[in-house]
Amino acid sequence: MGKMRRDAPAATVMVGARCRHPAREPVPSGDGRHPVQPFHASGRPTMNRYLRVPPLLRAFLAAPLLASLSAAVILPGSTPVRAQEPATRLVILGTGTPIADPDRFGPSVAVVVGEESYLVDAGAGVVRRAAAAARNGIAALAPSNLKRVFITHLHSDHTVGLPDLMFTPWQNGRNMPVEVYGPPGTLRMTTNIEEAWVEDVHMRLFGLEGRTAHNYRAVTSEIEAGTVYDDGTVRVDAIPVQHTSWPVSFGYRFVTPDRTIVISGDARPSPSLVEACNGCDVLVHEVYSRDFFDRHRNQTYHAAAHTSTAEVAALAMEARPGLLVLYHQLYRSATDEDLIREVREAGYAGRVVSAADLDVY
Ligand SMILES: [Zn+2]
Ligand SMILES: [Zn+2]
Repeated sequence: MGKMRRDAPAATVMVGARCRHPAREPVPSGDGRHPVQPFHASGRPTMNRYLRVPPLLRAFLAAPLLASLSAAVILPGSTPVRAQEPATRLVILGTGTPIADPDRFGPSVAVVVGEESYLVDAGAGVVRRAAAAARNGIAALAPSNLKRVFITHLHSDHTVGLPDLMFTPWQNGRNMPVEVYGPPGTLRMTTNIEEAWVEDVHMRLFGLEGRTAHNYRAVTSEIEAGTVYDDGTVRVDAIPVQHTSWPVSFGYRFVTPDRTIVISGDARPSPSLVEACNGCDVLVHEVYSRDFFDRHRNQTYHAAAHTSTAEVAALAMEARPGLLVLYHQLYRSATDEDLIREVREAGYAGRVVSAADLDVY
């Protein structure tokens, strides 16, 4: 059982809870060649086309698609079987790395169950990507609904969006502070972010804007491995992973009413992730290409920090996910197709896809 949290009203308080909040004023409460995209057209080109359609027309056009998704599937000689969308959706907000690729925002993934969203990491542009997903019909990712995030580790590419996640939804009507769960050091980070924007906060509270609520605040819980969150619908387990010399770095397992999803964060091959998945529905795993590794000047670092295509294949063969989603990809000149091919060449025959920003699985 992990340590955690105190004061998010909807969630069960876990044994050993340790919520550390700055003592200030109280806060108000398939196969890879055919990407698996069961619910949504995904990927940037489709997204761009989608966004140019006016909302009313978009709703009209979307109706037959939605109808077909839930249509009955009738096999010859069989009883009709209704194809069901899982209630839980996995939304890839950002697949990027520290390399500033304009097509790939910083690493962030959302698990969405009904009207609630559960974010993992806050990479660059996280709130804009969430808003794009909301515009595509996932209302739980509207900026005002971004209420909680689970941080894997404190590398800047995974956390540079934290100020965005704290302050932007405040301006977009979030009616509560954001809950931030993460390893030791997370509290110092969120405290310093609040401090860094103190002039902004002062102006918005006491200038003509006349804001009163302090919903830019972070309610921060520094966690240990184990169950760190349970609101009766979704349980979140922090999985210790190995990532260079970080003393504490997590992957996360989400157990929802209909799916189990494991997200690696940054990790070299970690047996704990195999154990956490163990036949899970979806394993979202970071990866680097053979080409990236071969041409990198610091191979020692990358072997200690990250997971190659061959390693992720071996790991997935043991973990047996229903779907393997590659994200946080380090390509160099490799392509998504190359990544999938390398995974196949390493012997993995299960369903695998290389994710793009705003894919939904
Ligand atoms: Zn990292
Ligand atoms: Zn990273």
